[in-house]
Amino acid sequence: MSVFPDFRALMLSALLAVPVAVQAKDKADMIVYGDYVLSMEVDAGVLQDGAVAVKDGAVLAVGSRDEIDLNYFTDRKISGAGKVLMPGLINGHTHAAMVLFRGMADDMTLIDWLQNFIFPMEGKFVDERFVRAGASLACWEMIRGGTTTIVDMYFYPGVAAEVYKTCGIRAILGAPMIDYPSPGFEGWDDSFAAGRDFVSNFDDPSGKLTAAFAPHGAYTVSPEHLREVLAAAQYANAPLMMHVAESPSEMTVMEERYHNSSVRHIASLGMLSYPMIAAHMVWPDEDEMDMMAMSDIGPIHNPTSNMKTAAGFSPVPQMIAKGINVGLGTDGAASNNDLDMWEEIRLTALLHKGKSGDATAMPASTALAMATRMGAAAIGLGDVTGTLSPGKRADMIQLTLSSPRMAPLYDIESHLVYVAGSRDVVTTIVDGQVLMHNGKVRTLSAATVIKKANVRAQMIRNALAEEEAEAEQETAQED
Ligand SMILES: [Zn+2]
Repeated sequence: MSVFPDFRALMLSALLAVPVAVQAKDKADMIVYGDYVLSMEVDAGVLQDGAVAVKDGAVLAVGSRDEIDLNYFTDRKISGAGKVLMPGLINGHTHAAMVLFRGMADDMTLIDWLQNFIFPMEGKFVDERFVRAGASLACWEMIRGGTTTIVDMYFYPGVAAEVYKTCGIRAILGAPMIDYPSPGFEGWDDSFAAGRDFVSNFDDPSGKLTAAFAPHGAYTVSPEHLREVLAAAQYANAPLMMHVAESPSEMTVMEERYHNSSVRHIASLGMLSYPMIAAHMVWPDEDEMDMMAMSDIGPIHNPTSNMKTAAGFSPVPQMIAKGINVGLGTDGAASNNDLDMWEEIRLTALLHKGKSGDATAMPASTALAMATRMGAAAIGLGDVTGTLSPGKRADMIQLTLSSPRMAPLYDIESHLVYVAGSRDVVTTIVDGQVLMHNGKVRTLSAATVIKKANVRAQMIRNALAEEEAEAEQETAQED
């Protein structure tokens, strides 16, 4: 046998090698398809008949069906027939467990509602079991509606974290701290100490959950305490979230107490030099918006809550025009009364047109970006989620376009903002894990979360009835 390779054999293997090389595919854990794919990257537009390859919980590639099928193989495919595929929604401000107070007190002024209803009710009824039942109910609703990331500010965040580990949602959990008595706490010192412990001891190997500091607001936390929590957040390199410039009553309190506005007040404390998730931001003036544009502040717009409590209309188009990333949130379900991000998207697109008298003030594509790319940037997760981009985590949703409500379809972005709703979401994926498939939430049972919520609600009803009876008895005795 010759040691020299046979020339013809070489030619043959070279010819054979060509198609083999072209067909060499990388393995993906999953490929998700869509008749329409919106990556939500800047100016990316809409990809027709596209797909996303996923590996190790991250987006591996985004492209046309043909490209993805040519380059990747997988055991797991999720069909995109009659569906749109896009990034999951980001709820930048909520108090998830408050779903258990859904519909208990409506149509009140913000201060009346907060001081005479919510704070006393929380003092009486919020404990670990309340938060477990409430966060589970909320998580089911959010996954069902296509929300993949939440910024949650509520009591017992360690309990909520356990719930989110089970249900699979991505979350920034803010440990609440306030100068007044609150569930489990007498005031600032103990709520701040517990929050600091929560953040420093927090460990989530999945990387989906982040612990954060959540001072309630500039009108409910003293300047000394705000300085204290800012220093703690800087030391721990942890996110910071707060209600900022929410209502006229807050602005009045700030003016009377500090002769200042909320934004200037927190700026004077150095709080604009650190990234902050600033819920509501209804009342910044022009100069304050310029200051914010120079900072890492992420305002979160909560249109339903702001209208329900008559807090005012946030200057969202003006903030966006200055280059500020503004996100969207539902706020708690006690002031909404649901956790449906599609309603926030649609309201955002509508109310800023109505308020300004300019139908071009808030295009559908901007409202959609606020719930995805811009929202992720506003909460400090712009490198992690918010768009379908290689390297980012695989947080995505599919909506069905099969309903007669969706016909005819000329412009998919228009439909997503002005027609679609949470009922149209059929698939929710977080970190590559399918949390909902064919409209069925897999990580939580609807029957169980409803049952547990109803048990808590009945306890609240019984306690309130007992209180009422006692009060009546006292009045009778006095008579
Ligand atoms: Zn809030």
